[in-house]
Amino acid sequence: MARSLDDVTYNYHHICENIARAAEAAGKTADDIIFLAATKTVEAPVINHAIALGLRYIGENRVQELLSKYGEYDLDHASLQFIGHLQTNKVRQIVGKVDLIQSVDSEKLAREISRCSQKLGITTDILLEVNIGREENKSGVMPERLPELLDQIKDIPAVKVRGLMAIPPICENAQENRKFFDNMRQFFLDIRSKNIDNISMDILSMGMSDDYEEAIRCGANMVRVGSALFGARNYQ
Ligand SMILES: *Cc1c(COP(=O)(O)O)cnc(C)c1O
Repeated sequence: MARSLDDVTYNYHHICENIARAAEAAGKTADDIIFLAATKTVEAPVINHAIALGLRYIGENRVQELLSKYGEYDLDHASLQFIGHLQTNKVRQIVGKVDLIQSVDSEKLAREISRCSQKLGITTDILLEVNIGREENKSGVMPERLPELLDQIKDIPAVKVRGLMAIPPICENAQENRKFFDNMRQFFLDIRSKNIDNISMDILSMGMSDDYEEAIRCGANMVRVGSALFGARNYQ
């Protein structure tokens, strides 16, 4: 499927308008919301077109794909993040290349990110991914284990928890969706109110193409939008 750059231009502005409107409904402005484009299967020139339009955050979810496109992204104007499931043995391939790893759900993974970051003399920002729908075959820490995981990670050097991320179950209606988003927001606020050393809760990453406006209205300040920007994905 050929992607038309004109479509991407149209979609980009349309999404920005929707984000601004949803932000306003949440008592915020568009500047309070990070619009991250989920760029899996999207060719680098198309990604760079979106960056030229003003997009400032991109996220990949496969290590191999990120590495294959790495030299082509316009990273002078955009922040590259990792949003997919991450295997411990692949961590070293992306540490130092990405500004934020959104999908940390175990102490083991955090320790490996720490080890690789220390080697490079950097600190890597991470989000903790929460399996908010308690779905069996999904990554993310179970909600009830979140406090324990925070406790395990807070003293690990060279990683810094910046917030939470979730991919809620696919829902039939907005009402059902809102329940998961509201729960995430409550965890986010509860943890933030504890003021734990080395844990800052400033990013709440939730909402994708079908529900990013709802997520913003429920308190998300980062949305990850793929198909609504680039068109339907074509996996080969
Ligand atoms: C693909 C992806 C998205 C975006 O999904 P769309 O429905 O295409 O907007 C968001 N988050 C993650 C982790 C993804 O892998």
